[in-house]
Amino acid sequence: MSFTLHGLAVSNGIAIGQAHLISQATLEVSHLVIAQRMVEKEVTRFETALAKVRTEFGVIKNGLGKAPTDIGAFIDLHLLILSDPELSEVPKQIIRERRCNAEWAIVQQMELLVAQFEKIEDVYLRERSYDVRQVVERIVRELVGRSGHAAAKSAKGVKGENLIVVAHDLSPSDVMAFKDQNFASFVTDVGGSTSHTAILARGMGIPAVLGLHNARQLIRDKETLIVDGTRGVVIVNPDARILEEYELKKCQIEIERSKLKLLKTTRSTTLDRVKIDLLANIEEPSDVTVALESGAEGVGLFRTEFIFLGRGDMPSEDEQFEAYRKVVKGMQGRPVTIRTFDLGNDKNIHSDDAIGERKRDNPALGLRSIRLSLAEPKTFQSQLRAILRVSKLGKVKILIPMLSHAHQIDQTLAALEQAKSSLRGEKIAFDESIEIGGMIEVPAAALAVGIFLRRMNFLSIGTNDLIQYTLAIDRSDEQVSYLYDPLHPAVLMLLAHVISTAEKVNIPVSMCGELAGDPKLTRLLLGMGLRQFSMHPAQIPAVKQKVKQSNISEVIPIVRRILRLEESAKIQEQIERLNA
Ligand code: PEP
Ligand code: MG
Repeated sequence: MSFTLHGLAVSNGIAIGQAHLISQATLEVSHLVIAQRMVEKEVTRFETALAKVRTEFGVIKNGLGKAPTDIGAFIDLHLLILSDPELSEVPKQIIRERRCNAEWAIVQQMELLVAQFEKIEDVYLRERSYDVRQVVERIVRELVGRSGHAAAKSAKGVKGENLIVVAHDLSPSDVMAFKDQNFASFVTDVGGSTSHTAILARGMGIPAVLGLHNARQLIRDKETLIVDGTRGVVIVNPDARILEEYELKKCQIEIERSKLKLLKTTRSTTLDRVKIDLLANIEEPSDVTVALESGAEGVGLFRTEFIFLGRGDMPSEDEQFEAYRKVVKGMQGRPVTIRTFDLGNDKNIHSDDAIGERKRDNPALGLRSIRLSLAEPKTFQSQLRAILRVSKLGKVKILIPMLSHAHQIDQTLAALEQAKSSLRGEKIAFDESIEIGGMIEVPAAALAVGIFLRRMNFLSIGTNDLIQYTLAIDRSDEQVSYLYDPLHPAVLMLLAHVISTAEKVNIPVSMCGELAGDPKLTRLLLGMGLRQFSMHPAQIPAVKQKVKQSNISEVIPIVRRILRLEESAKIQEQIERLNA
């Protein structure tokens, strides 16, 4: 049966391939022996999870509206499986008899059922074991929550350019684990368009659709999929005509991309001869190759935390030095801006629990980023020392994320001074005049930008977080992603304020959030006065082309008018005219 799913278009392009389903919670549950007095509580926990899954299925079914009745039938089948005493009652007996945890009990029972299914000759019935697994996964996920990186674990050892990862959710570290495996694309049920998962997809240059809600439930392993990452559409089991149409579209996109690559060695200068710096955002040393291939003039944002995600312990100073050295050397004299760790929100060194005791329910507003670095002075010192040590090998700058208060900046500068003086004491060379800049990611920082301008050498606007905090929209939550609006007048006002205030005192400003890599917004940003753009390497050619076709003196008056508008829709309309 062919059907289409709609989600968030987060990374452009078309992929055609086979579904590779990733289990998030499957068989990797631990076996715990519980105290006799806790047994009934465990049974209740199991019943609660079952009830929640039943409600979830009901919601999915209601939400299907006019969708093909086959999908409804599919959900009905899962509801039937869920109510079968083999799954709803037997695990309770197992919990009571073996005094084990609910996850373990249900997985044991599932194994038994699946083994029975596999003996059945009838192919249709045999394949129902998939459904049993999917239902059990859903229950286990409810029992264990969504943490952990089972997704990445299940993908290990699988490689393939024609495989499309289908998962309920992927953490940034899951995606990092996929990076070497050459997947054609990935699609998930949850995740917003500027979540780090989406950003990584764009960085890898592979199409991706997130926020599909039920993809993991509706798609089967090995089914043929078309992922249209530009329109946010996934077509399951397409017919021959649709397949042919998309093969053609895919070819056209590839031709377009190779044409853009020809711009690699040309200068990024506007029609009125203003030089615009186009830099790369990278996540690990191996990204340097793509950065250079795309014509990047340097690294504007090196998200250092990505190299060490999910590994369980903090990297040593020497390990960091080695990673930073590879990037600085690889960039062959071009500037490299190294951002200090942005951990504690969705990116964690420890796979399950970010910072142990310190983690809270609302990590985006909690001990994240520079707040965490300042709270962990030893870790911060080792990172600053590692960065200072590589500063001797090239043109290195330090970038500090998530600053909001003047005293934080002062504390950060004091920490840098301390790292410098310890290196001096050990007679280790470094660049004494290394520049340090602050990211503008919090509305308070944008509004009170003077506190940065008086203390720091440069600014870099992190629009992903700035939009998240200005509009109070969780950037990784697909349920509110329709409200994540880069063109909201409040966002544009903050951007214009930061850029023009910094310009007055001659402090360089770059932008390293996703907005910088969107060619539709290049002219708007040029008109605001932005001259440095840092983005995923894959975006550089398209933005360069836009720069080369733009005349800043013509753009400025239009952008001034746009900045006076108060409705996003009108702003959007004007931006379309600006690009016409
Ligand atoms: C940003 O917030 O815009 C940014 C560049 O940082 P990150 O996406 O890593 O949070
Ligand atoms: Mg950020």
